[in-house]
Amino acid sequence: MVELAPHPTTEESDKEIMALGFAGDTFNTAVYMARTGVQTDYVTLLGDDPYSEKIFDLANKEHIGTDMMERMPGRQPGMYLIRNAPDGEREFYYWRKEARARELFADKAHTEKLTQQLNKCDYVYLSGITLAIISDHSRFVLLRFLKEYRKQGGKVCFDINYRPRLWDFDQDKAQYVMAEVMENTDMALLTLDDEEMLWGDGSIAATIERYEHCHIKELVLKRGADEVVIYTDGVKMSVPVAKVDGVVDTTGAGDSFNAGYMSARVQGCSHEQAALHGIHVASIIIRNRGAIVKNRNFNELYRGLKA
Ligand code: ADP
Repeated sequence: MVELAPHPTTEESDKEIMALGFAGDTFNTAVYMARTGVQTDYVTLLGDDPYSEKIFDLANKEHIGTDMMERMPGRQPGMYLIRNAPDGEREFYYWRKEARARELFADKAHTEKLTQQLNKCDYVYLSGITLAIISDHSRFVLLRFLKEYRKQGGKVCFDINYRPRLWDFDQDKAQYVMAEVMENTDMALLTLDDEEMLWGDGSIAATIERYEHCHIKELVLKRGADEVVIYTDGVKMSVPVAKVDGVVDTTGAGDSFNAGYMSARVQGCSHEQAALHGIHVASIIIRNRGAIVKNRNFNELYRGLKA
């Protein structure tokens, strides 16, 4: 999506000056997957406007494969605006109706081409935000694809990323769809806050128990500054989150953690090493403003962390 974020000079001006950028939950994850050394492709639909072009250019600059990023004449990308509220919190306002990405898995010919391309990938990562914005029919097609893909050996990674407003506050529907996808997931990267909001879970044990029947090989629970919990093969382990000084903006913390975790796992690391890597990557993002940290700033801190 196109992102408009408050520009630092705003405070000295009577006008609200905004900085133009590009971000979005799965895109953020793709950026950090690529930056941490994993060959990554992004799937979306864009328009033929100059801002779609810029998103395309950004993906190229970040070494993200763009073969599955289709540009079609007509609409434009979605947009969101970040506002610094008077109480210091950040508020997000979305304009998503325009987003061409809402039409993913809608067109038969395009879907056939896309699924062929996806079948060549070892892993597919998706989020509940994508599920929320596409139509019922597209969700059905996507789910059918995930089932086939797994039968052929592909691995599905999923972050529920529950946003009630995107589901028109229809919690039952969100529960139904998320549960269906969880039943077809190999690696679940969840946030305890989302689970509490979506299911009313009161504890980590309740979340783990609810997904027991899904036989998810790897269930990872993020809990902000609290330790990360991993449940795998019936065993629960906790990985402490190191204290981070100078947290300025937690936007993208979960997305970047997911990237760090998955990147380490696909490169052969253990669950614990992967969680530590995810925690390291997220710690860089929360010490900088915005979901996508400048490459130079990221690399300096990433190298420092790896040393
Ligand atoms: P989300 O952004 O999806 O809500 P979380 O808030 O749980 O996800 O954060 C994801 C990860 O980011 C955490 O597991 C942790 O590694 C890191 N993180 C988030 N907030 C903090 C914090 N205040 N201090 C240290 N690490 C944090």
